[in-house]
Amino acid sequence: DKEEVDEEEDVIDEEEVGIHPADEEIPEHVPFVLIGAGTASFAAYRAIKKEKPDAKVLIIGQEKYTPYMRPPLSKDLWYSDDPEAIKTLRYKNWSGKERSVFYENDEYYCKPSELMSKEEGAVAVLARTKVVEVNPRSHKIKLHNGKEIGYDKLLLATGGTPKSLKVFEEAGSDVKKRTTLYRSIANLQALDKVTKKAKSVAIIGGGFLGSELACALGHRGLKSGIDITQIFPEEGNMGRILPGYLSKWTTESVAKEGVNILPGCHVQDVKYKNKKVVLTLNSGKELEVDHVVLAVGLEANVELAKSARLEVDPELGGYRVNSELEARSDIWVAGDSACFYDVNLGRRRVEHHDHAVVSGKLAGKNMTGAKQSYWHQSMFWSDLGPKIGYEAIGLVDSSLPTIGVFAKATSQDTPKAAVEATGENIRSTTQEQGEESTQQAEETKEIVETTDIVKSSDESEEGSNEEFGKGVVFYMKDKRVVGIVLWNIFERMNIARKIIMSEEDQEDLNELAKHFNIHT
Ligand code: FAD
Ligand code: NAD
Ligand code: NAD
Repeated sequence: DKEEVDEEEDVIDEEEVGIHPADEEIPEHVPFVLIGAGTASFAAYRAIKKEKPDAKVLIIGQEKYTPYMRPPLSKDLWYSDDPEAIKTLRYKNWSGKERSVFYENDEYYCKPSELMSKEEGAVAVLARTKVVEVNPRSHKIKLHNGKEIGYDKLLLATGGTPKSLKVFEEAGSDVKKRTTLYRSIANLQALDKVTKKAKSVAIIGGGFLGSELACALGHRGLKSGIDITQIFPEEGNMGRILPGYLSKWTTESVAKEGVNILPGCHVQDVKYKNKKVVLTLNSGKELEVDHVVLAVGLEANVELAKSARLEVDPELGGYRVNSELEARSDIWVAGDSACFYDVNLGRRRVEHHDHAVVSGKLAGKNMTGAKQSYWHQSMFWSDLGPKIGYEAIGLVDSSLPTIGVFAKATSQDTPKAAVEATGENIRSTTQEQGEESTQQAEETKEIVETTDIVKSSDESEEGSNEEFGKGVVFYMKDKRVVGIVLWNIFERMNIARKIIMSEEDQEDLNELAKHFNIHT
């Protein structure tokens, strides 16, 4: 059947096991072994190299690629004018700068077989390789092909696997073939292929991934005519993160990107009929589509817990680590798979890029003996098309009470303008980088006089015609601000970070909002 979609497997391809790499190429012992070839591992490698320039580092990953970043997979690559971008994985960002999803090109890494004979420090990537066991007593890991590698210091940065839904798990192979779980380059390229032929796609999930992909595919649909429908149980996009009024407003904006949105819905049944996937919703409505994307959350990869005898957090998932990100002697964890202790906000697991960078860096540093505890608050960002973008820090959970302070946006208050101004589309910031904007904003705060809208999450939403162009949303626990969303306001993260880390009671949030200087 030509219409069938052959989605490339990004996990182990049985036929290639043992071929890639040849068994004899695998070193017997490496001082620093990093499991997972994602952002957290790469950040750890950079930190190890900085602290110990002669270090030998082996990164082991299941995918066939060297470390790459995932954010462009649901954003930039879909908006590129270059029809080859999804193949080459290179794109121009909004400021015209040429970018690649890869941290380094292939030549940067040495062969695993040559790693230990290098005179200087070196890094190698063992791709298409799955680690199946960790033995902390003998300091050895076992690979899918039975080979073992000894380590001195080990990092687990295994990320997570997209969740599925029961009705899809139980559906037949015809439905499964037409369903994408989205995480990797292989998934991106498969979905690109599908959406060039399909006439209709349903995206299930209203969180980060579902909402970003809906905008991206909606954008493609405006040109190609493909129908994009987004289905989720919440009342609006990002309903678990944004306060109700803002989530609803966002949904209206996403609809303008060409997406047919069905909020308050879930899929009760799915079958394959007349060459279509037929979704039966809780309302009784039936929806026929050519393809489905499931974006219903992530489960941390903790398969190595049993052999390594590590504790998995029963509520949050992920390997439990101490404040130095160590799970037990000589084993550290970073990124999406780490459940860590945040001194400001308690135990957490964070599934965002900047956290992978910050925690990977700290773990790497500690693997060289630094013994530092976690203190830096990471941030995250999301763009819903070129006009809406937000950055956030701390606990941003729509079940907390919030106060939002908004002003009218101008054409300069878009993620596109922010990228043009800074040249940076990966809007991950560290403490040092933001220092300047903090000062600048604090100097000018006196000229801010009024804000247009002050909105509490428990206010009625009836009859509101308000425009939430740009603003700040504070998430509260009693009088403490525990989370902040910066809505179409960029380069103010350092001010937000200071507020979260101060742990002070805040009496006047309108006054606090002035620090962000949202009118300029
Ligand atoms: P990963 O990047 O998932 O890397 C883990 C790697 O480990 C994987 O390649 C996996 O195959 C491998 N692995 C797992 N188990 C084993 C094993 N046993 N043996 C060998 N290898 C193994 N965050 C933001 O803040 N902003 C964004 O805009 C944003 N956009 C995103 C867009 C998409 C499409 C996706 C999927 C995520 C996005 N994120 C974003 C989230 C961010 O990418 C993740 O938080 C980040 O990738 C986590 O990094 P990590 O290194 O912990 O895990
Ligand atoms: P998510 O946790 O953000 O959202 C999960 C969504 O799944 C919920 O909002 C809900 O709408 C939906 N859902 C849950 N149960 C459902 C059910 N039974 N039926 C229908 N819908 C249901 O996770 P995600 O959006 O799938 O994203 C996957 C991963 O990728 C996450 O780790 C996320 O943080 C990451 N990601 C992050 C960004 C970013 O930071 N900008 C962007 C893309 C992806
Ligand atoms: P660096 O260039 O190696 O790293 C700076 C960045 O690394 C930070 O912005 C953060 O992104 C990350 N990072 C570093 N240490 C971290 C930690 N313990 N937890 C989480 N992330 C961390 O420089 P550096 O020397 O590591 O850090 C800058 C200075 O700030 C250091 O002297 C550090 O000891 C100091 N510090 C600040 C605080 C604070 O609350 N602001 C607390 C403790 C230490």
